[in-house]
Amino acid sequence: MPDLLGHIAFAYILCRLLYFKYPTFDSANTVLVMLGSLLPDLAKLGVIFQTFFSIHIFGYNINDYIYGLHTPFSSIFLAGLIAIFFNEKKYAFLFLLLGAFTHYALDLLLIQVGGGYFFLFPISWQIFHLDLLPPDGYLFTLFSVIVAILLYFYGKFPNTN
Ligand SMILES: [Zn+2]
Repeated sequence: MPDLLGHIAFAYILCRLLYFKYPTFDSANTVLVMLGSLLPDLAKLGVIFQTFFSIHIFGYNINDYIYGLHTPFSSIFLAGLIAIFFNEKKYAFLFLLLGAFTHYALDLLLIQVGGGYFFLFPISWQIFHLDLLPPDGYLFTLFSVIVAILLYFYGKFPNTN
């Protein structure tokens, strides 16, 4: 289920629905939430690194540690790092973080073959998983993209009655 497209579409749907009630979820902030929804999967860069590079720093292979990016603690750190480059740092941070937490909410639904997610790392090694959706299914992504497109056009042509 939640591949990158699914995560982006879900973040868009959430922001679009919130925008009807709260105008602060405008296009620019929606993009921040969508970007934030991709932050945890920066860990997937590890696949590229493992395939093409083997980077060692002080004798430690960096590939062994890049999967730590898929934890809320890392997302908070990355969102803060990115927010530094914005004028409205606090809002940029919060929108990025909202996106990251939509990512974790969707990942939580997946059927886990490797145990689960360490959402409380480094405080605890407790694993979390709900085992509701198959990780290789495409229906959630397809449904999310269709709903996102419908919401996009609904926002473009609001009912003027
Ligand atoms: Zn993920």
